[in-house]
Amino acid sequence: MGAYARASGVCARGCPDAAGPWTFSRALRPQLLPLCFFLLLWLAAPGARAGGYETCPTVQPNMLNVHLVPHTHDDVGWLKTVDQYFYGIKNDIQHAGVQYILDSVISALLEDPTRRFIYVEIAFFSRWWHQQTNATQEVVRDLVRQGRLEFANGGWVMNDEAATHYGAIVDQMTLGLRFLEDTFGNDGRPRVAWHIDPFGHSREQASLFAQMGFDGFFFGRLDYQDKWVRMQKLEMEQVWRGSASLKPPTADLFTGVLPNGYNPPRNLCWDVLCVDPPVVEDPQSPEYNVKELVDYFLNVATAQSRYYLTNNIVMTMGSDFQYENANMWFKNLDKLIRLVNAQQAKGSSVHALYSTPACYLWELNKANLTCLGGLACPVGHDSALNAPAAVGHSGLATFPGACSPEARQLEALVGPAANVGPYGSGESAPLNEAMAVLQHHDAVSGTSRQHVADDYARQLAAGWGPCEVLLSNALARLRGFKEHFAFCRQLNISICPLSQTAARFLVTIYNPLGRKVNWMVRLPVSEGVFVVKDPNGRTVPSDMVIFPSSDRPVHPPELLFSASLPALGFSTYSVAQVPSWKPQARAPQPILRRSWSHPLTIENEHIQAMFDPDTGLLMEIVNKNQQLRLPVHQTFFWYNASIGDNKSAQASGAYIFRPNQQEPLPVSRWAQIRLVKTALVQEVHQKFSAWCSQVIRLYPGQQHVELEWSVGPIPVGDTWGKEVISRFDTPLETKGRFYTDSNGREILERRRDYRPTWKLNQTEPMAGNYYPVNTRIYITDGNMQLTVLTDRSQGGSSLRDGSLELMVHRRLLKDDGRGVSEPLMENGSGSWVRGRHLVLLDTAQAAAAGHRLLAEQEVLAPQVVLAAGGGAPYNLGAAPRTQFSGLRSELPPSVHLLTLASWGPEMLLLRLEHQFALGEDSGRNLSAPVTLNLRDLFSTFTITRLQETTLVANQLREAASRLKWTTNTGPAPHQTPYQLDPANITLQPMEIRTFLASVQWKEVDG
Ligand SMILES: [Zn+2]
Repeated sequence: MGAYARASGVCARGCPDAAGPWTFSRALRPQLLPLCFFLLLWLAAPGARAGGYETCPTVQPNMLNVHLVPHTHDDVGWLKTVDQYFYGIKNDIQHAGVQYILDSVISALLEDPTRRFIYVEIAFFSRWWHQQTNATQEVVRDLVRQGRLEFANGGWVMNDEAATHYGAIVDQMTLGLRFLEDTFGNDGRPRVAWHIDPFGHSREQASLFAQMGFDGFFFGRLDYQDKWVRMQKLEMEQVWRGSASLKPPTADLFTGVLPNGYNPPRNLCWDVLCVDPPVVEDPQSPEYNVKELVDYFLNVATAQSRYYLTNNIVMTMGSDFQYENANMWFKNLDKLIRLVNAQQAKGSSVHALYSTPACYLWELNKANLTCLGGLACPVGHDSALNAPAAVGHSGLATFPGACSPEARQLEALVGPAANVGPYGSGESAPLNEAMAVLQHHDAVSGTSRQHVADDYARQLAAGWGPCEVLLSNALARLRGFKEHFAFCRQLNISICPLSQTAARFLVTIYNPLGRKVNWMVRLPVSEGVFVVKDPNGRTVPSDMVIFPSSDRPVHPPELLFSASLPALGFSTYSVAQVPSWKPQARAPQPILRRSWSHPLTIENEHIQAMFDPDTGLLMEIVNKNQQLRLPVHQTFFWYNASIGDNKSAQASGAYIFRPNQQEPLPVSRWAQIRLVKTALVQEVHQKFSAWCSQVIRLYPGQQHVELEWSVGPIPVGDTWGKEVISRFDTPLETKGRFYTDSNGREILERRRDYRPTWKLNQTEPMAGNYYPVNTRIYITDGNMQLTVLTDRSQGGSSLRDGSLELMVHRRLLKDDGRGVSEPLMENGSGSWVRGRHLVLLDTAQAAAAGHRLLAEQEVLAPQVVLAAGGGAPYNLGAAPRTQFSGLRSELPPSVHLLTLASWGPEMLLLRLEHQFALGEDSGRNLSAPVTLNLRDLFSTFTITRLQETTLVANQLREAASRLKWTTNTGPAPHQTPYQLDPANITLQPMEIRTFLASVQWKEVDG
C-alpha cells in the first residue's frame, strides 16, 4: 500500500486509526457517509484490493487535485497509412511520426522521476518495441514497473464502437493485451479503458470492457446535449450497467466523460503542433507570463471542478500525434506544476500533479464516489455522428476476412501440423493483426482517406497467403489426402476461376459453428450439366441458374446444391460435368415475365413471398407455420446528400449523414423482374435501374427470405451526392419504437426522437434517428415481428411507424469538413457493392430463436475450399476422409463457440458463449442456463488442464479483481465461491466464459 492511501485517510486494507469524516475543501462537495461505513463496505467486498495502483502519486486530501495526464493519440491509419504514421512519412499530409514520439517520450521520462505518460495503441508500440536495443527495452521495463509509463486500453487499436462486431473487438483487445502481458507482466496490464476518439459509445463495448477486467473507462466524444445534461446533473462520472442479462457487477463499468474531449484546456498546448506560448518565468522578459498563466490555470481548474463530484479532476495534456518533441510539453508542464503548487503557500487549495487515468480513477474510487446516475444509466449514442460511420467504406465493408476464424479453429484442431506441413509454413497471425487493425475507429468506420483504405485492404490480402498455407496443411492432415487447394476469395461476387473452368473438382465446405448446418452451396461454373456427389458418393440434387447475358456486371451460371455440414467440421462433395443428354442434369432457364395479372409468388414449406403485379416489388410475406401474413413493401430510395443549407453549412460526408430533404426519392417506382423456379431455389430478379438490382430468394427449408442487393456505381453526373437505402414498409403499429443490436450482441430499444437519459431537442430528423446496425434491426407490434439481418454493419432506422430502413451505399461529392478532407467518392473497388438482407417474419415470442441462430450463421458462414482432385495420400495412407467433425457431439443451440484458437505450445484459447439474452426466448426455452461437459467435447485433442480467465485471457479468473463502486442500487450481490469443474461448465444468458486449455492432440485416425 503506497503513501497515497495514508495521505487520503482511506484504509484499503484496514488501519486501526482510520476514522473521521471525509472532508472537502469546497462547499460544492456533497455530504458523504462516515468513512467507517465505507471501510466496512470495502472490507466486505470479496477480493477488493488495490492491485496495480501502488505506484500512483500522492494527492493532497484537502485540496483540489488536478491530475495532468500527458498522452498522445495515434490513429492506426487515418489521413496517412499505418506505416506512414509510424515512420513519419508524408508529413506534408499530416505531421506525424510515432517512432519519434516514443523515442522522445522515453528520454523525457528519464529526465525527471515525477513525469508520467500513457500509451495506448499497441499496433504502434509493439512495432517500436521490436526495433529497440536490449538496453532500451530494460529502461522501458523499469519505467513501466514504476508506473511512469502506463498503458491505457492496450488494444491493438482503439476500436470503433459503431461498426464493429463483438467478436472482432474481443480479438483485437486480446491481441494487444497479450503483447503487454508477455512483455511486462502485471506491471503492464492496463487498468483503464480509454476510448477518447471513437464517435459514440455502445453499451456492449462497456459490457465487454467490464468483462475484460477493466476498473474504469474514459471517453471523450458524446452528444453535446447529453454532455450538457450530465454536466448540470453532476453525472459526468457514473457506473454504466452494460448488460440487462449479466448479473451485476459483471458488466458494470465505471465510466467518466473527459472534460475537453481528449485535448488540453485552451491556451495550454505545448506541443510542436501547437502555437500556445510557453511558460516564461524571467520577469525581465517582455514575454513574462507566469502570473497570467497561473491565474488562468486556477480559474480553469476551479470551473471544471464544478461539474465533477470529488476533489480530483483530470486534464488530458496532449492530442493527435503529439509529443514528437516531448521536451516541449514536459518542460512547460514541469514549470506549470511547480508554479501552481507554489501558490499553496499563499492560500491556494489547488494541487497540480503528473498523473495517469488509472491513478485518477484510483482517487475516485478511494473517495467512494457514489454514482448518482444510477446503474441503469445507458449512455446515449451520438447518433448523428455514429450512424453514417456504420456504413463505412463499402470497399472495406465487403472485404471478406473469411480466412481468419476458420484458420484459427483448424490450427487449434490440428495442432502444430497445421503450421508446418506439406504446403510449407503457415500461420494465422498476420491476418489476425490485419483484422485487428481494421477495427480501428478510422478504418472500419469509413473515415480514413481512400489511399489508407486501400492500404488496409493490402494488409488483409498480405495476411491471406500464410493463412491459406495453414488451411491447406490442416485440411490435408484431416482429410488424409494432399490436394491442390484453391481458395476463391471473390466467391461472394460469383468469381472462382477453378469452378468456372474445371470439368470436375472437389468442394470442401468447412462449418465453423458448433452445430450442424445445412447450407446451399452456389458456385459459378461454365455452362453445361453437372453431377454432384455427397461425401458418401451418392448423387445429390443440384440445379443451375443462368443469368441473361445482358446483365451487368456479367454473371456466370451458378451451380446449386445443398450441403449437410457437421459441427465444427467439413464435408467434401465432388462435382463433375456430364454429357448434357443425361436426364437428371437439367438446367432450368429463367422465365421472363413481361406482364402478369395476379401476384407472383415464391415459396417453400415455411415462407411465401408475394410481388405486386403492377410494380414487381415485394408486397407481402407469409409465415406458413405461424399463419402470419404481413404486407411488406420493399424497395430502394436515395437521400440527396446535403452540401450545406441556410440552416447549417454542414455537408453530408464520411462522418456526417445529413440529407437535404426528409423524404427520400425512389430509385424507381417499379422493377423489371424475372422469375426462377427450380427444385432447389425460387428467385425473383428485380432490376430497378442500371445501377440498382436485387434477387429475392427462398431455398427449401429456409425460414427467412433472402434479399441480395447490388448497388453501384452510384451515378453522380447530376452533381447530387446520393445515400441509398433499402426500405421495408409495413402496417405494423410500432409506436415509434424499433430495435437494433449492440455490436452484434444484446438488443437495444430505440425510440424515434427520444433519448432515454435526457429530453432531446431533435435538430436532424433523419440522422438523429439513425443507429448502428451491426447484425440486425427489427420492428414489432407486440404480436408480430419483422427482423432484418445484415451481412455487414450499416446505419438503420424506423423513421415512421411500421417502417424499417438500412443504408446500403453512399457516394458524396463534398467533404464534410470533419478532418478527412476527401469526399466519399468510393471509386475503384468500393464503387459497386453486393450484400444481403435476411428477412424473418415471426411472432414476437418466437422471433429471438430465429434471429439469434441465423445471425450466428451469417457472421460465421461456411467456408468453401476447392480442389481440382487427383491428390495424393498424406498421413493416413487410406482413402481420403470426406467428412469430419471437431466435436464429439454438437453444442446446444444456445451455445456459440466464440473462439477456438492456438495460444502457445500445447495450449488453446477457448471461449464459449450463451447467445440468448435473459427471458428472450420462451418458446424453446433457449434463454435457460446451459451446462456443458468440456472433458470429452473435442475429437482431435484431450484437455489435460483447464484454467478460466477474464474475457481477454490476461488474468486468471480466480485471481482477477476489479475495483468496487458504491452505487445507488446498493452493494453488489454476494458472489458464490468460484470453482471450476471442466465436466460442469454452466453458461448463464449472455455469458461468455474464456478458458486456457492445456491439450494433447490425438493421432488423426478417424
Ligand atoms: Zn482517432
